[in-house]
Formats: sequence, C-alpha cells, structure tokens
Amino acid sequence: MSLIKLPILIDPHTHCRDFEQNNKETFETATRAALAGGYGYVADMPNHSHPIVDKRTLGELKDLAEKQIVTDLGIYLGVTPQSVSEAEKNFRECEGEVRGLKIYMGETTGGYIVDSDDDLDKIFRTWESNKPILVHTEDKSLVKALELAEKYKRNLYVCHVSRKDELELIDKFRQKRKNNIWVEVTPHHLFLSDKMSISPFGQMKPPLSSDEDKEALWMAVIKGEIDTIGTDHAPHTREEKMGIKPPSGVPGLETTLVLLLRAEKEGKISREKIIELTHNNPIKIFNLNKEKYDRAEVVLVEEEFLIEENNLKTKCGWTPFKEMRVSHKIVEVNFDGKIGYKDGEILAVSGSGKIV
Ligand SMILES: [Zn+2]
Repeated sequence: MSLIKLPILIDPHTHCRDFEQNNKETFETATRAALAGGYGYVADMPNHSHPIVDKRTLGELKDLAEKQIVTDLGIYLGVTPQSVSEAEKNFRECEGEVRGLKIYMGETTGGYIVDSDDDLDKIFRTWESNKPILVHTEDKSLVKALELAEKYKRNLYVCHVSRKDELELIDKFRQKRKNNIWVEVTPHHLFLSDKMSISPFGQMKPPLSSDEDKEALWMAVIKGEIDTIGTDHAPHTREEKMGIKPPSGVPGLETTLVLLLRAEKEGKISREKIIELTHNNPIKIFNLNKEKYDRAEVVLVEEEFLIEENNLKTKCGWTPFKEMRVSHKIVEVNFDGKIGYKDGEILAVSGSGKIV
C-alpha cells in the first residue's frame, strides 16, 4: 500500500454560510468538510445573510465562528452599495483584521453587487492596503476591475476565472506590469463542463463553461498563468437546489484534492503544480504563516473509488462530482501538531482552529 504525503491545503475562497443560512452550512460543518478534504485554512467570503462590511459585523462573525472552527479561518471584508459611504472608516478600522477586500461586481448570492462607476472608483482609491482586492466579475466588469486596480496600483485577485477570453484580457494587463494580478480557478470549472449546467446541481456563478474554455483553463494552469485553486465552496440544501428557482453554488472542499490527484495520474498536472496552487501561492498572496502550514500534512493512500455523497461532512450532503472516479483516498490529516482527521472521522475539537 503506497502512501503519499502532501502539505495541507489552503483555500482562499469558501462560503461558510451560518447566520440565517445555517441550514445550508455552519462554520463548524464547513471547516469539518475542509479538514476531511485536506485543508487546514479556509478564507470565508463576506456575502453572508448579514453582510460583513464593518467593525461590528466583523465582530459578530468572529464571535460566531471562533467556538466552532476546526481549521484556521481567514476573513475578508465586504462592501455593499449601502456601505460605500462609510468606506474610509470601515477600511481603516478593519484592514488589520482581514486578508483582503472582496467586491462583488457581478450578480451573486445576497444582493451585494456594486456596479456604479463612482462607487467602484471610490472603493479602489480608498483601499490603500497591500492586501489584495478580490473581485467577483462577469463579462464587462472584469475590464473595469483591471483598469481600476491598474489606476490605483492595487493588488488584484480575480476570483473564479472561467473562460478563455478572460484569460486573454488578464494577460494583456499583466504584461504592463503596473500591479500584481493574481488569478484563481475553481475545481468545478476545471472538472465539469457546461453539459452539466442543465442540472440545478451544476448551477453556479460564473456558470460552467464550454469544453474549449475548460481546455484553455488547463493550458493556463500548465503555462503558469493561474496562481491558485479556490474551491468556491458554496453549499445550498438539496431541497433548495431542486426548487423552482435553484440558487447558484456548489460545494467543493472535500473533492478538490482527490480530483487534482486524479488529474495528475492522467498527466494533466504535476504534483509540484498542485502544491504550488493549493499551498505555496495562497500562503504568499495572503501572507499566511508558512512555517505552520508547511508542517501540517495530508496523508493519502492510492485506491480507486467513486465519489459518494453519504460520507460527506458538508451539511448540504451532496456534490456535483458524485460518482466521478478518483485514484486516492485521504486517510489522515495532521494539523497544528495533532491528528485532525483519520479514516473518515474528525478528531479535531470544535474551536481548535484559529481566526487568522
Ligand atoms: Zn464565491
């Protein structure tokens, strides 16, 4: 039986839900799913039912999360059209406690979208930190984000790039070398294609793209144009997904690593590249404690199996990768000097993770 060991994974893009959405997921279930999937750190996106936009809401989130988490948790500050007028104050008071600022420039869960040119200009101007501005963009808003980040020389992190034309546009801006531009892809855009969009369980934002776009994403991974793989773990209940208006989003924390190792077996990606995109680069971009996460490891055994839903730790209990064949099973996760996960069981105690 051959075992392989990898450094623990870092996810820059998770939606832990909780608050009024604790039927979908909580900080506890999200981080349990993370640990079972080989992650020791997840960064929570701020588009909660209570948007995380200022000192008060940040405090509420910390109070709720700290007793529950079994992995480390990073936090981003959000901004809504209503909170823009307080941007100076909010950014000043919260910048030290968060890993970056997230702006929704395209439609998403929770009525968060900021699309006025004046508001966007103000946000990019006012965020004077070296910490990245993360953007959710679709179609025309990507060029706007790239222009504003260039104008104010901000570090830009483009979430879930899903199409070839987006990669080409980003490349043009990168060649000017005016500012840092980092690019994230999600496992669902790498492993699923738009043929699955007809199912509500394949519905997410941005939507699944064509096989041609998918191939372009893989090429970009190989050429070094992609910096991170972010799961965009965004659970909804099965009932919601099967309702008349299914919400967008799919879970991903428990399936990403095993899917990447299958891709390695198929010759699509090297082991070094997997580690670079899921460990080294997110640590660098978000300035995390390298020593701590370098010491933590995931142990896997080579074993063929089909992804099943009944073993999942995510509260939503389903996955869009159901019945996909994978080649490795996670058997143990060592985190913070302890065994956090072993043979299907979470051993880490609630509240043992840190908000960092
Ligand atoms: Zn997201």
